[in-house]
Amino acid sequence: MNRILSGFLAAFCPYVCPFCGKVIKFGEKACAECVELFYDDMITRRAVGGYPCKSLFPYKEPYSNSVVRMKFSKYPIFSENFALCMYSKLSSPDFDLITYVPMYIKKERERGFNQAFLIARDYSSLVKIPCEALLEKIKDNKEQHTLPASERKDNVKGVYRAVNKEKIIGKNILVIDDVITTGNTLGECCKMLMRAKAASVSCLTVCAKIDA
Ligand SMILES: [Zn+2]
Repeated sequence: MNRILSGFLAAFCPYVCPFCGKVIKFGEKACAECVELFYDDMITRRAVGGYPCKSLFPYKEPYSNSVVRMKFSKYPIFSENFALCMYSKLSSPDFDLITYVPMYIKKERERGFNQAFLIARDYSSLVKIPCEALLEKIKDNKEQHTLPASERKDNVKGVYRAVNKEKIIGKNILVIDDVITTGNTLGECCKMLMRAKAASVSCLTVCAKIDA
């Protein structure tokens, strides 16, 4: 579907398939054609530091475009679709708490939302596990995707810190983000949660770059 038509439809009907732009009904994760293309198995990777990470889709079309549209074309409503996709694969995850990769406060204000928080919030309400703010981004570092892989590890060092530490101790925590690429960002977030004495930390993302 061309961009003008899908934009026109989106303006009058807020529920569109995040992967192709077709109008869908409230409560549907995607249109029937796109659901047909979904993968049976989740992608399993590890964030830096060895923390397990499951993802719904490879970071390629049409999945990558849905994440990009959510962030940059301002479709925060796609968090509901992604949360439903996650729920269809992982309906009763074994965690005490759900959290998300935070944005630097100024960047979040500019965008108007943090996509990772919205996905975590919507998934949390489906699986009935509390979503808590357990991490804060304290430095406005360069965006990871603008850097070569060799510089990404240093770029996230000291960028995040644990908050609400009393809630972290002894808990099995799931960290949600939109995309795992090199796994440095999620690895750093997991490390901060483990330093704050979490019992275990795992990750869940919409997309995974599998050739990273
Ligand atoms: Zn579709």
